[in-house]
Amino acid sequence: MEINKPPLRMVCPGRVFRIDEVDATHSPMFHQIEGLVVDKGVTMRELRETLEIFAAEMFGSETKIRFRPHHFPFTEPSAEVDISCFVCGGKGCSVCKGEGWIEILGCGMVHPNVLKGCGIDPDIYAGFAFGMGVDRIVMAKYGIRDLRYLFENNIRFLEQF
Ligand SMILES: [Zn+2]
Repeated sequence: MEINKPPLRMVCPGRVFRIDEVDATHSPMFHQIEGLVVDKGVTMRELRETLEIFAAEMFGSETKIRFRPHHFPFTEPSAEVDISCFVCGGKGCSVCKGEGWIEILGCGMVHPNVLKGCGIDPDIYAGFAFGMGVDRIVMAKYGIRDLRYLFENNIRFLEQF
């Protein structure tokens, strides 16, 4: 198999299946957008700036983001990313469950072993990656309380968008 060499800049949509109990915010099937950048000199600052631009475009220019340290097996360091609530501006409301923040994605710097496994020298190249749940973002943006509405094919619900 031919492996693409850096620089790599990819955004890839996908459908995820996993074992999970169905409730208002969880489903064993959901949609995800993965982003990956690998190049010389890529830093976490570039990751943060990319996500700040995304948040401003998707939720409005006043939107702030915050990183919370987390563990993912293929990135180091890793973080979960929240946006400031676009309904209450961070004061706390029913959409953000009083937190002022809404979790939208996971991200991090590509682990050196992942680069090595792809035949890319981690002493020369670095990368960042993120994965965001499209369904959660739609729920947050439109204030949809129950994830299951998105998959029930109720035309009266879907026509609102
Ligand atoms: Zn809020």
